[in-house]
Amino acid sequence: MTTIQQNLDTVRRQIALTAQQCDRDPKEIQLLAVSKTKPVIAIQEAIDAGQRLFGENYVQEGIDKIQHFADTPFADRLEWHFIGPLQSNKSRPVAEYFHWMHTLDRQKIAQRLSDQRPVGMPALNVLIQINISDEQSKSGITLAELPLLAEQIHSLPNLMLRGLMTIPAPESDSERQEAVFHQMTLAYEQLKSIYPQVDTLSMGMTDDMSTAIRAGSTMVRIGSAIFGARDYA
Ligand SMILES: *Cc1c(COP(=O)(O)O)cnc(C)c1O
Repeated sequence: MTTIQQNLDTVRRQIALTAQQCDRDPKEIQLLAVSKTKPVIAIQEAIDAGQRLFGENYVQEGIDKIQHFADTPFADRLEWHFIGPLQSNKSRPVAEYFHWMHTLDRQKIAQRLSDQRPVGMPALNVLIQINISDEQSKSGITLAELPLLAEQIHSLPNLMLRGLMTIPAPESDSERQEAVFHQMTLAYEQLKSIYPQVDTLSMGMTDDMSTAIRAGSTMVRIGSAIFGARDYA
């Protein structure tokens, strides 16, 4: 087993253990392997260990990887999630190549993604990004803005609203962190009661994965715990 495969194993065990501890079925929690900045050989190792869902933050880098794996026998089983900030002029390649988009926070981009989704492809699965705690961040909308954007997305033919995503500000106080995650879960449950196809709450990264699972996350986005620290140089 390679280091990446051992890491994946550890993360999967941690997810299962945390789920058990809070009486959740581990199958309710999907693992998205965040492979940004990492080479295709690292992704291949994860694929060989059974990983199928991958998250990428940068449009061109993501597409290069999608195209690389399009020529392999696993192509049809891989699912690519765009999880980075998206400028509206970069929406087309996301609409053309990805299966999921986690950071939708504007009607204008929703409209473009729907218009640009190629004929014959299934609807693009989208999550609305909520800015739950980080006032500094320009990404994501407030919960007050959620009902309108959800309705707008729901009316677009080539998008499928699947749920919510958040990147909370780091908290040193664990009770405060839990409260923030809990707020997201309530908003998610409410959205689900209006739109029955909603089934995904994308919440939790390497440092807050267990707290997010205890609060109700259904998809954790894990990078460094699987692939090691990133080098942006
Ligand atoms: C990089 C990134 C992750 C993974 O972060 P780790 O701390 O390495 O697990 C998850 N979600 C988003 C949106 C990211 O940009």
